[in-house]
Amino acid sequence: MQNLLRHTCPSCQGRFWLERLPQGTILCPYCGATVSGSGRLGRRSSAVPACTVRNGTAVPGIRTEDGLIILGEEGRGRRLTRVPLPSGASLDREGTVQALPVSHPAAVAVILIRDHSGYRGGWELLTLPREDCPLRGKLELLWEETCPVCEWWGRHGPYPVRQLRAQDLGHLIAEGYCAQGAAGRMGGGPEYLIAAPPGEFCIYRWGRLYGAPRFVGVRIYPDGRVETWDVMEALSSTRAAESW
Ligand SMILES: [Zn+2]
Ligand SMILES: [Zn+2]
Repeated sequence: MQNLLRHTCPSCQGRFWLERLPQGTILCPYCGATVSGSGRLGRRSSAVPACTVRNGTAVPGIRTEDGLIILGEEGRGRRLTRVPLPSGASLDREGTVQALPVSHPAAVAVILIRDHSGYRGGWELLTLPREDCPLRGKLELLWEETCPVCEWWGRHGPYPVRQLRAQDLGHLIAEGYCAQGAAGRMGGGPEYLIAAPPGEFCIYRWGRLYGAPRFVGVRIYPDGRVETWDVMEALSSTRAAESW
């Protein structure tokens, strides 16, 4: 045990034992940050692309104000968070950051997910469903009645789904909260800034959406590209293609 050193991660404050190694990279077992042998946080030299998902669409870059990424809102029932950029972030002339250096080796992109609440509604993260409910149009559901297949209540929905936390999508850098109404109780939802590995998930929105998709698929590719789509539309065209 003599060559084991007690260590504290400078990024997440997690405690662990490290073997004293003459060289090589050491990763924090909790947050994945690169920790050098001396205990200082190492920065990965390569930057990853930044992207904003808003209104169901992925837009390259994250807008900044005075060099800060702003999440959420100020006021009752709301939470405003200002995130300074890491050194080495590249800004364009409009103050949009296109790429960011991150210390999480698995991350391929930094994504900002804006509030996706519908009017007088909210939103949440779900796993990506694979199928639409086969009982849609065949079994009428009453208010607050649960469907035996898709397990949605009141109306049929895509399945199977499971709720996700922002932390399930990668390393949660920061979060804020937006709300509707003066008291902040008429609806609203969070905003997340995440250093994300490749993966896919679903944004489920409720409230009035004025024709925008209720289920938005989000896929992060290994090269850091982010793509979004209308999940219900994709599921129904898959079903149509299979019924030939
Ligand atoms: Zn850590
Ligand atoms: Zn159903």
